[in-house]
Amino acid sequence: MSGKESGIDSLEVLLAHALTIEVEAEERYQMLASQMEVHNNPELAGIFRKLAGIEGRHAEELRQRTAEMDLPKLAPWEYQWPGLESPEAADLGAAHYLMTPWHALQLALQAEQRAFRFFDELARKAEDQDVRKLAEELAEEEAEHVRLVDELLAKHQPPAGRWDEDPDPAAQQE
Ligand code: ZN
Repeated sequence: MSGKESGIDSLEVLLAHALTIEVEAEERYQMLASQMEVHNNPELAGIFRKLAGIEGRHAEELRQRTAEMDLPKLAPWEYQWPGLESPEAADLGAAHYLMTPWHALQLALQAEQRAFRFFDELARKAEDQDVRKLAEELAEEEAEHVRLVDELLAKHQPPAGRWDEDPDPAAQQE
């Protein structure tokens, strides 16, 4: 059996993974954007919306590409993620409403890098030539997202000192 090591041994299975990665990435970025809007951080909300838009377009491309294909419907435990969640989902637990654009972009960077590594590793391991080619293509697209987030990061300075303390926390008024 080819591709046994990764468990992703056909184009269909790879595309099912790729589609889930993009859809979940978009959802996470949208959620982060809404969260930042609620907390009145429009700058950050804008950045997350932009990233959500990129992932959304990516998902749409994959949907069109696979419209004629019979993709497997994978149960959550059938996905071959290295961790428990799809590799591109930004870590929501690490999001904080007082975080700065720099921190938010770090989260995004990690998510994009995980997605890149996922496809890149697969491209190296895959025995099936079609799987390898598509994995290479997807890795290249993620590498581009990494570069994009890097560019955004270059425009934002890391904050000095502590950032997770609210100077006027309503909850502490007694
Ligand atoms: Zn991406």
